[in-house]
Amino acid sequence: MDSCVSNTWTRPLAATSSVPDKADVVIIGGGIVGVSTAWFLARQGVDVVLCEKGHIAGEQSGRNWGWVRVQGRDTREIPMMLESLRIWEDLKDEIGEDVGFTRGGCLFTANSDKELRSFEDWVNTAKDYGIDTRLINPGELQQYVRGSAVDWSGAMFTASDGRAEPHKAAAAIARAAQRNGAKVLPACAVRGIETSGGSVSAVVTEHGTISASTVLCAAGAWTSMFCRSLEIDVPQLRVKGTVARTAPADEVLNGNVFDDRLGIRRRQDGGYTVAHGGVLEHPVTPSSFRYFFKFLPALMQELKIVRLSLGKEFADEWSTPETWALDEPTPFEKMRVLNPEPTPGVLTAIRRNLDTMFPALAKTPIVESWAGMIESSPDVVPIIDSVDSLRGFHIATGFSGHGFGIGPGAGKAIAGLLTGKDSGIDISALRLSRFFDGSPIRPQSSI
Ligand SMILES: Cc1cc2nc3c(=O)[nH]c(=O)nc-3n(C[C@H](O)[C@H](O)[C@H](O)COP(=O)(O)OP(=O)(O)OC[C@H]3O[C@@H](n4cnc5c(N)ncnc54)[C@H](O)[C@@H]3O)c2cc1C
Repeated sequence: MDSCVSNTWTRPLAATSSVPDKADVVIIGGGIVGVSTAWFLARQGVDVVLCEKGHIAGEQSGRNWGWVRVQGRDTREIPMMLESLRIWEDLKDEIGEDVGFTRGGCLFTANSDKELRSFEDWVNTAKDYGIDTRLINPGELQQYVRGSAVDWSGAMFTASDGRAEPHKAAAAIARAAQRNGAKVLPACAVRGIETSGGSVSAVVTEHGTISASTVLCAAGAWTSMFCRSLEIDVPQLRVKGTVARTAPADEVLNGNVFDDRLGIRRRQDGGYTVAHGGVLEHPVTPSSFRYFFKFLPALMQELKIVRLSLGKEFADEWSTPETWALDEPTPFEKMRVLNPEPTPGVLTAIRRNLDTMFPALAKTPIVESWAGMIESSPDVVPIIDSVDSLRGFHIATGFSGHGFGIGPGAGKAIAGLLTGKDSGIDISALRLSRFFDGSPIRPQSSI
Protein backbone atom coordinates (compact mmCIF):
# COMPACT_ATOMS: atom_id res chain seq x y z
CA MET A 1 0.00 0.00 0.00
CA ASP A 2 1.35 3.43 -0.89
CA SER A 3 1.09 5.34 2.37
CA CYS A 4 3.46 8.18 1.52
CA VAL A 5 1.45 11.37 1.95
CA SER A 6 3.92 13.74 0.30
CA ASN A 7 3.85 11.76 -2.97
CA THR A 8 0.72 13.78 -3.64
CA TRP A 9 2.77 16.94 -4.18
CA THR A 10 6.29 15.64 -4.88
CA ARG A 11 5.58 13.26 -7.77
CA PRO A 12 6.31 14.61 -11.27
CA LEU A 13 3.62 16.98 -12.48
CA ALA A 14 1.43 15.66 -15.28
CA ALA A 15 1.83 18.36 -17.91
CA THR A 16 -1.13 20.17 -19.41
CA SER A 17 -0.30 21.86 -22.69
CA SER A 18 -3.63 23.02 -24.06
CA VAL A 19 -7.10 23.88 -22.80
CA PRO A 20 -10.57 23.50 -24.35
CA ASP A 21 -11.90 26.57 -26.20
CA LYS A 22 -15.04 26.72 -24.09
CA ALA A 23 -16.89 25.23 -21.15
CA ASP A 24 -20.15 25.68 -19.27
CA VAL A 25 -18.26 26.02 -15.98
CA VAL A 26 -14.58 26.54 -15.14
CA ILE A 27 -13.40 25.63 -11.64
CA ILE A 28 -10.23 27.21 -10.28
CA GLY A 29 -8.56 24.83 -7.81
CA GLY A 30 -8.20 21.07 -7.54
CA GLY A 31 -8.70 20.60 -3.80
CA ILE A 32 -11.50 18.53 -2.29
CA VAL A 33 -13.99 21.38 -2.86
CA GLY A 34 -13.14 21.92 -6.53
CA VAL A 35 -13.03 18.22 -7.46
CA SER A 36 -16.24 17.41 -5.56
CA THR A 37 -18.03 20.24 -7.35
CA ALA A 38 -16.66 19.04 -10.69
CA TRP A 39 -17.89 15.52 -9.93
CA PHE A 40 -21.42 16.65 -9.08
CA LEU A 41 -21.58 18.94 -12.13
CA ALA A 42 -20.22 16.34 -14.54
CA ARG A 43 -22.76 13.78 -13.32
CA GLN A 44 -25.49 16.26 -14.27
CA GLY A 45 -24.07 16.54 -17.79
CA VAL A 46 -22.52 19.99 -17.27
CA ASP A 47 -19.46 20.64 -19.45
CA VAL A 48 -16.92 21.44 -16.71
CA VAL A 49 -13.19 22.20 -16.82
CA LEU A 50 -11.13 22.20 -13.61
CA CYS A 51 -7.79 24.04 -13.65
CA GLU A 52 -5.25 23.31 -10.91
CA LYS A 53 -1.99 25.25 -10.84
CA GLY A 54 -0.08 22.34 -9.28
CA HIS A 55 -1.14 18.84 -8.23
CA ILE A 56 -4.67 17.71 -7.46
CA ALA A 57 -4.84 17.87 -3.63
CA GLY A 58 -1.30 19.23 -3.52
CA GLU A 59 -2.20 21.80 -0.86
CA GLN A 60 -4.63 21.56 2.10
CA SER A 61 -6.72 18.69 0.74
CA GLY A 62 -3.79 16.27 0.64
CA ARG A 63 -2.14 17.40 3.88
CA ASN A 64 -4.90 17.37 6.46
CA TRP A 65 -5.54 15.06 9.40
CA GLY A 66 -8.27 13.17 7.55
CA TRP A 67 -11.00 13.69 10.13
CA VAL A 68 -14.54 13.53 8.76
CA ARG A 69 -16.60 14.82 11.66
CA VAL A 70 -19.76 16.69 12.43
CA GLN A 71 -18.90 16.80 16.15
CA GLY A 72 -18.19 20.30 17.43
CA ARG A 73 -19.12 22.13 14.22
CA ASP A 74 -20.71 25.53 13.84
CA THR A 75 -24.47 25.08 13.36
CA ARG A 76 -24.22 26.79 9.96
CA GLU A 77 -22.17 23.82 8.71
CA ILE A 78 -24.18 20.98 10.22
CA PRO A 79 -26.74 20.27 7.44
CA MET A 80 -24.00 20.30 4.80
CA MET A 81 -21.78 18.10 6.96
CA LEU A 82 -24.53 15.54 7.56
CA GLU A 83 -25.06 15.35 3.81
CA SER A 84 -21.30 15.01 3.39
CA LEU A 85 -21.19 12.04 5.76
CA ARG A 86 -23.90 10.37 3.67
CA ILE A 87 -21.86 10.99 0.51
CA TRP A 88 -18.64 9.65 2.11
CA GLU A 89 -20.50 6.51 3.17
CA ASP A 90 -21.38 5.61 -0.43
CA LEU A 91 -18.40 7.22 -2.14
CA LYS A 92 -16.41 4.04 -2.68
CA ASP A 93 -19.34 2.40 -4.48
CA GLU A 94 -20.24 5.56 -6.39
CA ILE A 95 -16.78 6.23 -7.77
CA GLY A 96 -15.43 2.68 -7.75
CA GLU A 97 -12.29 3.65 -5.80
CA ASP A 98 -11.30 3.36 -2.19
CA VAL A 99 -10.86 6.64 -0.30
CA GLY A 100 -10.20 5.06 3.10
CA PHE A 101 -13.49 6.19 4.63
CA THR A 102 -14.63 4.45 7.77
CA ARG A 103 -16.84 5.49 10.69
CA GLY A 104 -14.46 4.97 13.59
CA GLY A 105 -15.98 7.68 15.77
CA CYS A 106 -14.68 10.98 17.06
CA LEU A 107 -13.65 11.76 20.65
CA PHE A 108 -12.85 15.13 22.21
CA THR A 109 -11.32 14.13 25.53
CA ALA A 110 -11.65 16.25 28.70
CA ASN A 111 -8.81 16.83 31.14
CA SER A 112 -11.15 18.09 33.88
CA ASP A 113 -14.80 17.92 34.88
CA LYS A 114 -15.08 21.57 33.89
CA GLU A 115 -13.85 20.79 30.38
CA LEU A 116 -16.26 17.86 30.16
CA ARG A 117 -19.17 20.12 31.16
CA SER A 118 -18.11 22.64 28.50
CA PHE A 119 -19.10 20.05 25.87
CA GLU A 120 -22.72 19.94 27.09
CA ASP A 121 -23.87 22.80 24.84
CA TRP A 122 -22.76 20.99 21.74
CA VAL A 123 -24.32 17.71 22.89
CA ASN A 124 -27.62 19.60 23.16
CA THR A 125 -27.09 21.05 19.69
CA ALA A 126 -26.47 17.54 18.38
CA LYS A 127 -29.80 16.39 19.82
CA ASP A 128 -31.59 19.12 17.82
CA TYR A 129 -30.14 17.62 14.64
CA GLY A 130 -30.62 13.97 15.60
CA ILE A 131 -26.85 13.40 15.86
CA ASP A 132 -25.64 10.59 18.14
CA THR A 133 -23.16 12.74 20.13
CA ARG A 134 -22.99 12.08 23.88
CA LEU A 135 -20.70 12.49 26.85
CA ILE A 136 -19.00 9.32 28.03
CA ASN A 137 -17.30 8.51 31.32
CA PRO A 138 -13.68 7.38 31.77
CA GLY A 139 -14.76 3.73 31.96
CA GLU A 140 -16.47 3.80 28.57
CA LEU A 141 -13.65 5.89 27.13
CA GLN A 142 -11.26 3.02 27.84
CA GLN A 143 -13.25 0.85 25.43
CA TYR A 144 -12.29 3.18 22.59
CA VAL A 145 -8.85 4.34 23.70
CA ARG A 146 -6.68 1.62 25.18
CA GLY A 147 -3.31 1.93 26.83
CA SER A 148 -3.41 5.68 27.36
CA ALA A 149 -1.48 7.00 30.35
CA VAL A 150 -3.81 9.99 30.67
CA ASP A 151 -6.39 10.15 33.41
CA TRP A 152 -9.16 11.79 31.36
CA SER A 153 -12.41 12.91 33.04
CA GLY A 154 -14.41 11.61 30.08
CA ALA A 155 -15.06 12.69 26.52
CA MET A 156 -17.57 13.94 23.99
CA PHE A 157 -18.15 11.09 21.57
CA THR A 158 -19.85 10.79 18.18
CA ALA A 159 -19.80 7.18 16.99
CA SER A 160 -21.08 8.04 13.50
CA ASP A 161 -18.15 10.36 12.69
CA GLY A 162 -15.30 9.01 10.64
CA ARG A 163 -12.10 9.51 8.73
CA ALA A 164 -10.73 9.12 5.22
CA GLU A 165 -7.28 9.19 3.62
CA PRO A 166 -6.43 12.65 2.24
CA HIS A 167 -3.70 11.28 -0.03
CA LYS A 168 -6.37 9.20 -1.79
CA ALA A 169 -9.70 10.98 -1.61
CA ALA A 170 -9.53 14.13 -3.73
CA ALA A 171 -7.51 12.48 -6.49
CA ALA A 172 -10.02 9.61 -6.65
CA ILE A 173 -12.96 12.05 -6.85
CA ALA A 174 -11.14 13.98 -9.60
CA ARG A 175 -10.75 10.75 -11.59
CA ALA A 176 -14.45 10.02 -11.09
CA ALA A 177 -15.28 13.50 -12.38
CA GLN A 178 -13.13 12.80 -15.45
CA ARG A 179 -14.90 9.49 -16.08
CA ASN A 180 -18.15 11.47 -16.07
CA GLY A 181 -16.81 13.88 -18.70
CA ALA A 182 -15.10 16.63 -16.68
CA LYS A 183 -11.77 17.89 -17.96
CA VAL A 184 -9.28 18.02 -15.09
CA LEU A 185 -6.12 19.96 -15.89
CA PRO A 186 -3.21 19.89 -13.41
CA ALA A 187 -0.26 22.27 -13.88
CA CYS A 188 -2.69 24.77 -15.35
CA ALA A 189 -2.74 28.02 -13.41
CA VAL A 190 -5.60 30.42 -13.94
CA ARG A 191 -4.14 33.90 -14.41
CA GLY A 192 -7.33 35.91 -14.47
CA ILE A 193 -10.82 36.49 -15.82
CA GLU A 194 -12.06 38.32 -18.91
CA THR A 195 -15.32 40.18 -18.57
CA SER A 196 -17.91 41.67 -20.82
CA GLY A 197 -20.60 44.09 -19.62
CA GLY A 198 -19.99 43.22 -15.97
CA SER A 199 -20.20 39.46 -16.55
CA VAL A 200 -17.55 36.75 -16.77
CA SER A 201 -16.82 35.92 -20.42
CA ALA A 202 -13.63 33.84 -20.25
CA VAL A 203 -10.94 32.36 -18.03
CA VAL A 204 -7.33 33.06 -18.92
CA THR A 205 -4.96 30.21 -18.06
CA GLU A 206 -1.24 29.81 -18.61
CA HIS A 207 -2.08 27.47 -21.51
CA GLY A 208 -4.76 29.55 -23.22
CA THR A 209 -8.20 31.06 -22.79
CA ILE A 210 -11.44 29.18 -22.10
CA SER A 211 -14.71 30.93 -22.98
CA ALA A 212 -17.11 30.47 -20.08
CA SER A 213 -19.81 32.48 -18.37
CA THR A 214 -19.68 30.61 -15.06
CA VAL A 215 -16.57 30.36 -12.88
CA LEU A 216 -16.03 28.93 -9.42
CA CYS A 217 -13.02 30.15 -7.48
CA ALA A 218 -12.17 27.28 -5.10
CA ALA A 219 -8.55 28.33 -4.83
CA GLY A 220 -8.06 27.59 -1.11
CA ALA A 221 -5.35 29.77 0.43
CA TRP A 222 -5.01 31.77 -2.81
CA THR A 223 -8.62 32.89 -3.06
CA SER A 224 -8.23 36.25 -1.34
CA MET A 225 -5.30 37.20 -3.56
CA PHE A 226 -6.99 36.01 -6.75
CA CYS A 227 -10.18 37.88 -5.90
CA ARG A 228 -8.33 41.06 -4.95
CA SER A 229 -7.00 41.21 -8.52
CA LEU A 230 -10.68 41.38 -9.57
CA GLU A 231 -11.45 44.05 -6.94
CA ILE A 232 -13.44 41.54 -4.87
CA ASP A 233 -12.61 41.68 -1.17
CA VAL A 234 -12.46 38.24 0.49
CA PRO A 235 -11.16 38.37 4.07
CA GLN A 236 -8.90 35.38 4.58
CA LEU A 237 -5.83 34.51 6.66
CA ARG A 238 -3.58 31.46 6.91
CA VAL A 239 -2.28 29.35 9.79
CA LYS A 240 0.30 26.61 9.50
CA GLY A 241 -0.29 23.14 10.90
CA THR A 242 2.54 20.61 11.30
CA VAL A 243 1.56 16.94 10.88
CA ALA A 244 3.31 13.56 11.08
CA ARG A 245 2.54 9.89 10.62
CA THR A 246 3.86 6.87 12.40
CA ALA A 247 4.76 3.45 11.09
CA PRO A 248 2.06 0.76 11.51
CA ALA A 249 1.65 -0.19 15.16
CA ASP A 250 -0.66 -1.96 17.62
CA GLU A 251 -4.19 -0.66 17.74
CA VAL A 252 -4.60 1.66 20.73
CA LEU A 253 -7.62 3.41 19.24
CA ASN A 254 -9.78 3.08 16.17
CA GLY A 255 -11.07 6.58 15.65
CA ASN A 256 -10.12 10.22 15.98
CA VAL A 257 -9.04 11.50 19.38
CA PHE A 258 -8.50 15.17 20.19
CA ASP A 259 -6.76 16.39 23.31
CA ASP A 260 -5.17 19.84 23.55
CA ARG A 261 -1.77 18.13 23.43
CA LEU A 262 -2.40 15.67 20.61
CA GLY A 263 -4.72 15.05 17.69
CA ILE A 264 -4.43 11.41 16.66
CA ARG A 265 -6.29 9.10 14.32
CA ARG A 266 -5.82 5.56 13.13
CA ARG A 267 -4.67 5.31 9.51
CA GLN A 268 -5.76 2.76 6.95
CA ASP A 269 -2.17 1.45 6.80
CA GLY A 270 -2.23 0.68 10.55
CA GLY A 271 -0.18 3.71 11.55
CA TYR A 272 -1.39 6.95 13.14
CA THR A 273 -1.65 10.50 11.81
CA VAL A 274 -0.55 12.76 14.66
CA ALA A 275 -0.40 16.49 15.29
CA HIS A 276 -0.20 18.88 18.19
CA GLY A 277 -3.68 19.69 19.50
CA GLY A 278 -2.70 23.08 20.86
CA VAL A 279 -0.43 24.79 18.33
CA LEU A 280 -1.28 26.70 15.16
CA GLU A 281 1.27 29.09 13.69
CA HIS A 282 0.23 32.29 11.96
CA PRO A 283 2.95 33.83 9.79
CA VAL A 284 2.18 37.54 9.94
CA THR A 285 1.69 39.11 6.51
CA PRO A 286 0.25 42.41 5.23
CA SER A 287 -3.15 40.63 5.18
CA SER A 288 -2.89 40.15 8.95
CA PHE A 289 -3.07 43.94 9.28
CA ARG A 290 -5.59 44.40 6.46
CA TYR A 291 -8.04 41.99 8.14
CA PHE A 292 -6.99 42.44 11.78
CA PHE A 293 -10.34 43.70 13.10
CA LYS A 294 -12.41 41.14 11.22
CA PHE A 295 -10.27 38.33 12.64
CA LEU A 296 -10.06 39.73 16.17
CA PRO A 297 -12.90 37.53 17.54
CA ALA A 298 -11.25 34.40 16.09
CA LEU A 299 -7.86 35.49 17.42
CA MET A 300 -9.26 36.07 20.91
CA GLN A 301 -10.87 32.64 20.82
CA GLU A 302 -7.67 30.90 19.69
CA LEU A 303 -5.31 33.06 21.75
CA LYS A 304 -3.93 30.06 23.62
CA ILE A 305 -3.01 28.08 20.52
CA VAL A 306 -2.04 30.63 17.85
CA ARG A 307 1.67 31.46 17.67
CA LEU A 308 2.62 34.50 15.62
CA SER A 309 5.81 34.55 13.59
CA LEU A 310 7.39 37.13 11.31
CA GLY A 311 9.33 35.60 8.46
CA LYS A 312 9.62 35.36 4.71
CA GLU A 313 5.84 35.10 4.24
CA PHE A 314 5.58 38.82 5.07
CA ALA A 315 8.10 39.76 2.39
CA ASP A 316 6.56 37.30 -0.08
CA GLU A 317 3.11 38.84 0.21
CA TRP A 318 4.50 42.39 0.38
CA SER A 319 6.35 41.89 -2.91
CA THR A 320 3.41 40.23 -4.69
CA PRO A 321 1.61 42.67 -6.96
CA GLU A 322 -2.15 43.17 -6.50
CA THR A 323 -2.78 42.87 -10.23
CA TRP A 324 -0.72 41.36 -13.04
CA ALA A 325 -0.58 41.01 -16.80
CA LEU A 326 -2.40 37.94 -18.07
CA ASP A 327 0.10 37.21 -20.84
CA GLU A 328 3.06 36.45 -18.59
CA PRO A 329 3.70 34.18 -15.57
CA THR A 330 1.71 35.14 -12.48
CA PRO A 331 2.25 34.44 -8.76
CA PHE A 332 0.30 31.18 -9.21
CA GLU A 333 2.90 29.75 -11.57
CA LYS A 334 5.77 31.07 -9.47
CA MET A 335 4.54 29.01 -6.51
CA ARG A 336 2.91 25.91 -7.99
CA VAL A 337 2.56 24.29 -4.58
CA LEU A 338 2.29 26.06 -1.25
CA ASN A 339 4.57 23.74 0.69
CA PRO A 340 5.47 25.09 4.13
CA GLU A 341 8.15 23.38 6.20
CA PRO A 342 7.02 21.42 9.25
CA THR A 343 8.22 23.20 12.39
CA PRO A 344 10.94 21.17 14.21
CA GLY A 345 9.87 22.31 17.70
CA VAL A 346 6.28 21.25 17.01
CA LEU A 347 7.47 17.85 15.74
CA THR A 348 9.47 17.40 18.95
CA ALA A 349 6.39 18.23 21.02
CA ILE A 350 4.25 15.80 19.00
CA ARG A 351 6.76 13.00 19.63
CA ARG A 352 6.97 13.85 23.34
CA ASN A 353 3.19 14.03 23.79
CA LEU A 354 2.65 10.79 21.86
CA ASP A 355 5.17 8.94 24.03
CA THR A 356 3.79 10.34 27.28
CA MET A 357 0.14 9.86 26.45
CA PHE A 358 0.47 6.51 24.64
CA PRO A 359 3.46 4.62 26.06
CA ALA A 360 2.55 1.67 23.83
CA LEU A 361 3.53 3.82 20.82
CA ALA A 362 6.75 5.18 22.32
CA LYS A 363 8.91 2.89 20.20
CA THR A 364 6.86 3.41 17.04
CA PRO A 365 8.87 5.55 14.62
CA ILE A 366 7.53 8.66 12.97
CA VAL A 367 8.16 7.95 9.31
CA GLU A 368 6.97 11.14 7.62
CA SER A 369 6.19 14.73 8.50
CA TRP A 370 4.78 17.65 6.56
CA ALA A 371 2.93 20.93 7.04
CA GLY A 372 -0.07 22.61 5.48
CA MET A 373 -1.40 26.15 5.38
CA ILE A 374 -4.98 26.22 6.63
CA GLU A 375 -6.95 29.16 5.29
CA SER A 376 -9.78 30.60 7.28
CA SER A 377 -12.53 33.16 7.06
CA PRO A 378 -13.06 35.51 10.05
CA ASP A 379 -15.82 33.37 11.58
CA VAL A 380 -14.11 30.09 10.73
CA VAL A 381 -16.85 28.79 8.43
CA PRO A 382 -16.80 28.82 4.64
CA ILE A 383 -17.84 31.48 2.19
CA ILE A 384 -19.98 29.97 -0.58
CA ASP A 385 -21.56 32.64 -2.71
CA SER A 386 -22.12 34.30 -6.06
CA VAL A 387 -20.43 37.67 -6.43
CA ASP A 388 -22.87 40.49 -7.17
CA SER A 389 -20.27 42.80 -8.71
CA LEU A 390 -19.15 40.23 -11.30
CA ARG A 391 -21.98 38.15 -12.73
CA GLY A 392 -21.05 34.51 -13.25
CA PHE A 393 -18.23 34.57 -10.68
CA HIS A 394 -18.65 32.38 -7.59
CA ILE A 395 -16.51 31.73 -4.54
CA ALA A 396 -16.11 28.69 -2.28
CA THR A 397 -13.39 29.18 0.27
CA GLY A 398 -12.60 29.68 3.97
CA PHE A 399 -13.22 26.07 4.93
CA SER A 400 -10.75 26.44 7.78
CA GLY A 401 -9.38 23.35 9.55
CA HIS A 402 -12.49 21.34 8.72
CA GLY A 403 -13.05 21.50 4.95
CA PHE A 404 -11.91 18.00 4.08
CA GLY A 405 -14.78 16.23 5.79
CA ILE A 406 -17.39 18.67 4.49
CA GLY A 407 -15.86 18.82 0.99
CA PRO A 408 -18.17 16.35 -0.78
CA GLY A 409 -21.25 17.96 0.80
CA ALA A 410 -19.96 21.38 -0.22
CA GLY A 411 -19.45 20.08 -3.77
CA LYS A 412 -23.10 19.08 -3.93
CA ALA A 413 -24.26 22.43 -2.55
CA ILE A 414 -22.02 24.43 -4.87
CA ALA A 415 -23.13 22.45 -7.92
CA GLY A 416 -26.68 23.49 -6.96
CA LEU A 417 -25.61 27.13 -6.67
CA LEU A 418 -23.98 27.05 -10.13
CA THR A 419 -26.81 25.29 -11.93
CA GLY A 420 -29.65 26.99 -10.09
CA LYS A 421 -31.03 23.59 -9.05
CA ASP A 422 -31.94 23.08 -5.41
CA SER A 423 -29.33 20.86 -3.75
CA GLY A 424 -31.41 20.64 -0.59
CA ILE A 425 -28.55 22.23 1.39
CA ASP A 426 -29.11 25.74 2.75
CA ILE A 427 -26.01 27.88 2.19
CA SER A 428 -27.59 31.29 2.74
CA ALA A 429 -25.67 31.82 6.02
CA LEU A 430 -22.39 31.39 4.13
CA ARG A 431 -22.79 34.53 2.01
CA LEU A 432 -19.73 36.77 1.56
CA SER A 433 -21.62 39.93 2.56
CA ARG A 434 -21.84 38.82 6.21
CA PHE A 435 -18.35 40.29 6.69
CA PHE A 436 -19.34 43.70 5.29
CA ASP A 437 -22.97 44.35 6.20
CA GLY A 438 -22.49 44.92 9.92
CA SER A 439 -23.45 41.36 10.94
CA PRO A 440 -21.63 40.36 14.14
CA ILE A 441 -18.64 38.13 13.42
CA ARG A 442 -18.98 35.28 15.92
CA PRO A 443 -16.96 32.09 15.46
CA GLN A 444 -18.89 29.18 17.04
CA SER A 445 -16.20 26.56 16.59
CA SER A 446 -12.43 26.55 16.60
CA ILE A 447 -10.13 26.68 13.56
C1 LIG B 1 -2.70 20.56 8.68
C2 LIG B 1 -4.16 20.53 8.30
C3 LIG B 1 -5.04 19.70 9.00
C4 LIG B 1 -6.39 19.68 8.64
N1 LIG B 1 -7.22 18.74 9.20
C5 LIG B 1 -8.48 18.58 8.74
C6 LIG B 1 -9.29 17.50 9.17
O1 LIG B 1 -8.87 16.63 9.90
N2 LIG B 1 -10.58 17.43 8.72
C7 LIG B 1 -11.09 18.36 7.86
O2 LIG B 1 -12.27 18.27 7.52
N3 LIG B 1 -10.31 19.37 7.37
C8 LIG B 1 -9.02 19.50 7.77
N4 LIG B 1 -8.22 20.48 7.30
C9 LIG B 1 -8.80 21.48 6.39
C10 LIG B 1 -8.98 20.97 4.98
O3 LIG B 1 -7.81 20.32 4.54
C11 LIG B 1 -9.31 22.14 4.08
O4 LIG B 1 -10.37 22.91 4.62
C12 LIG B 1 -9.75 21.67 2.70
O5 LIG B 1 -8.82 20.75 2.19
C13 LIG B 1 -9.89 22.86 1.77
O6 LIG B 1 -10.13 22.38 0.47
P1 LIG B 1 -10.14 23.38 -0.75
O7 LIG B 1 -10.47 22.57 -1.95
O8 LIG B 1 -11.02 24.54 -0.42
O9 LIG B 1 -8.67 23.99 -0.82
P2 LIG B 1 -7.26 23.36 -1.23
O10 LIG B 1 -7.17 21.93 -0.90
O11 LIG B 1 -6.23 24.25 -0.65
O12 LIG B 1 -7.26 23.48 -2.80
C14 LIG B 1 -7.17 24.72 -3.47
C15 LIG B 1 -6.38 24.49 -4.74
O13 LIG B 1 -6.46 25.64 -5.55
C16 LIG B 1 -5.28 25.71 -6.31
N5 LIG B 1 -5.14 27.06 -6.87
C17 LIG B 1 -4.99 28.22 -6.19
N6 LIG B 1 -4.92 29.26 -7.04
C18 LIG B 1 -5.03 28.75 -8.29
C19 LIG B 1 -5.01 29.33 -9.61
N7 LIG B 1 -4.90 30.66 -9.80
N8 LIG B 1 -5.12 28.50 -10.67
C20 LIG B 1 -5.28 27.16 -10.51
N9 LIG B 1 -5.27 26.56 -9.28
C21 LIG B 1 -5.17 27.35 -8.19
C22 LIG B 1 -4.20 25.36 -5.30
O14 LIG B 1 -3.01 24.93 -5.92
C23 LIG B 1 -4.89 24.26 -4.47
O15 LIG B 1 -4.53 22.97 -4.88
C24 LIG B 1 -6.87 20.53 7.61
C25 LIG B 1 -5.98 21.36 6.92
C26 LIG B 1 -4.63 21.33 7.22
C27 LIG B 1 -3.69 22.16 6.40
